[in-house]
Amino acid sequence: MVTQMMHDFEAMISRRCRAIDVSGIRSVFELGAKLDDPINLSIGQPDFPVPEALKQAAIDAIRADHNGYTLTQGIPELRERVAAHLQEDIGWDVAAGGQSVLISSGTSGALLLASLALLDPGDEVIVSDPYFVAYPAISELAGAKLICCNTYPDFRLTAERVERAITPRTKVLLLNSPGNPSGVVLTGDELRDLVDLCRTHGILIISDEIYDEFTYDDAREDGRCPSPARFTDELLLVRGFGKSYGCTGWRMGYVAGPARIIREMAKLQQYTFVCAPSMAQYGLVGVFDVDMSDMVEVYRRRRDMVLAAFEGVTEVARPGGAFYVFVEVPKALGLTAGEFVRLGFSRNVLTIPGSVFSRRDTHFRLSYAAPEDKLRQGLDILVALMSENRPGV
Ligand code: PMP
Repeated sequence: MVTQMMHDFEAMISRRCRAIDVSGIRSVFELGAKLDDPINLSIGQPDFPVPEALKQAAIDAIRADHNGYTLTQGIPELRERVAAHLQEDIGWDVAAGGQSVLISSGTSGALLLASLALLDPGDEVIVSDPYFVAYPAISELAGAKLICCNTYPDFRLTAERVERAITPRTKVLLLNSPGNPSGVVLTGDELRDLVDLCRTHGILIISDEIYDEFTYDDAREDGRCPSPARFTDELLLVRGFGKSYGCTGWRMGYVAGPARIIREMAKLQQYTFVCAPSMAQYGLVGVFDVDMSDMVEVYRRRRDMVLAAFEGVTEVARPGGAFYVFVEVPKALGLTAGEFVRLGFSRNVLTIPGSVFSRRDTHFRLSYAAPEDKLRQGLDILVALMSENRPGV
């Protein structure tokens, strides 16, 4: 049926929405869909299945008719397990410390609610450049201004670098360690300095620790992923289950922090997401009993394989966690990262240009959440491209 257009839909789109670009990662997915069996090193999710015990618990929950709304904050069983985990991992006594826990629809859900609960137009949010792709969009939705703190070439968001970006309008420091896209893990000392700096300036830290489980031994301290939450309980700690347990599609995360802020986030969740998916909440009650260390070891080996492949060819800041490396396109090639990534596409290798995560386009993100044989092939091709395209070669 052909109807005459009555509305100018284009003109109806909000200014807020116009200010946000379609995710550059999605564009790479679309390009990838056109390639026949690509070597896909662009994926931001693990390539292992959800542990059997968690699958079974989610299936059991569906069969036991846990398919309705849950409490907005999340089912008590899971919140209690999260609180016990936080006590064990970072020493927070959630109940006694005036804090609370909210189970969210993915880590993204928690970050969005936090921004909406805290930020007003004109407020400034400091992030590292390079940053996770959603940060500019999330602060834009809240009307806040994103202040990018240049961390090239080592991608360490030090207190010294952050201090230069602080203004009287700074309200939030949005930290992400292990970081996407660099995999860089800040040390406990670096994080303590950031906590002290933010305390002095009355700035709230939101710590996005979605990759905490995927921290390699060489970046762990006392066997754990360094976290600013060990130095203060006056921050918002955001963590997720999707990356650590291979269940990104379950949309599960949590946020813990000052009860006053969490209460506002719960209010917003009530009117937006309503609650996190019910069967996934029940499915994850036993999550902290699942040992992922074998998987983390597999990823550590892949990280070492990537570092070895680029050694002497180009610069890569050593990642201590997550499953990404942020690789510099050798300056001698005279190419932007976008141009180099397109060269990769022409040889069937998918990576993501740095401009998606940064105000610069000099690096590309390579994800090693891919089978080892594919990763090896992809690395060989990328390294060959770096050598072949040197001027004069
Ligand atoms: N933060 C970071 C740093 C991420 O890399 C991602 C996912 N790529 C998210 C948050 C969002 O995760 P989720 O799927 O739990 O919403």
